Amino acid sequence: MIIDLRSDTVTRPTPAMMQAMMQASVGDDVFGEDPTVNALEEKCASLLGMEAAVFCPSGTMTNQIGIKVLTQPYEEVICYRGAHIYKYEGGGLAGNSLVSVRLLAGDRGRLSVDEMAAQVNADDQHYPRTSVIALENTVVREAGSYYTLRDIAPISAFARSKKLLLHLDGARLFNALAVTGDHARDYGKYFDTISICLSKGLGAPVGSVLACKKEFAKKARRMRKAWGGAWRQAGFLAAAGLYALEHHVARLTEDHQRAKKLADCLRQQPYVASVMPTDTNIVIFELIPSVTPAAFLEKINAHGIKALVFSATEIRLVTHLDFDDAMLQKTVDVFSTLRF
Ligand SMILES: *Cc1c(COP(=O)(O)O)cnc(C)c1O
Repeated sequence: MIIDLRSDTVTRPTPAMMQAMMQASVGDDVFGEDPTVNALEEKCASLLGMEAAVFCPSGTMTNQIGIKVLTQPYEEVICYRGAHIYKYEGGGLAGNSLVSVRLLAGDRGRLSVDEMAAQVNADDQHYPRTSVIALENTVVREAGSYYTLRDIAPISAFARSKKLLLHLDGARLFNALAVTGDHARDYGKYFDTISICLSKGLGAPVGSVLACKKEFAKKARRMRKAWGGAWRQAGFLAAAGLYALEHHVARLTEDHQRAKKLADCLRQQPYVASVMPTDTNIVIFELIPSVTPAAFLEKINAHGIKALVFSATEIRLVTHLDFDDAMLQKTVDVFSTLRF
């Protein structure tokens, strides 16, 4: 038994999801003729309280398209200094949108109006024009910390007052909703573009969706085309996404409970220096200086457990659909007996 905790992207379609995929009606999506893609896009738009949605191959692409449609070259995007759009998308913002970033520390990655107030550039030729605030929910670099809509409402009001547009990287938005109890449909009114991943906690093999205002959808499709992401009979994948939205949202709380149990176990281990608060499905912990991430990985790999080296001192674990209670028990047993 291999226990893969590197990411929630590693899941395989369940037999029922696979069946839904195989039975999908498909057509050529570049002609707008794939009924299953169209159904997924309509569902996501209404689910998120947005006018339109565009199905894309990856979360990186939906984020990059989101920023592209909201900005002009030479402008500036305000985001958390560990934001996925900045730190983990291969420099895409610079290359694709020709924008600079204003990086903020945040409170465990969550920005506030107080922190942003002094970061919007004055209208002066020396400064890049600040045009977008980008939030991430949950925040992957901060072990899945989350915003509530109460946190977001004032940020959105601030953005509107400064004529800034607002993007949400909601790769794990449904994990946030599982904790906050907020409704997805209330998100649309606060943001201009929202990206969600179907291939993370929701367990689809591939796919992300950019939900947006109608005015941005046409350009989003143009950019998806320009970047080679316009696809054909993508309905087979859209069917997995529809299935995931229907059947895999309610169970996310199980992932959160298992992540908490992993974190609790790690806090008791002599080789662990600290564990970030574990609010959703991501556990990030720091090893003591005498134990390198490579040494830790070597020991757990020998027991069939995989994890991700997240920095020179940190390890990341992410719980998901293919990590069950038996695997949790085995992982806890292994972590409890490791000695360095
Ligand atoms: C995984 C992730 C993405 C998108 O990743 P892809 O692998 O390109 O689908 C975007 N934002 C966050 C916060 C993520 O964790």
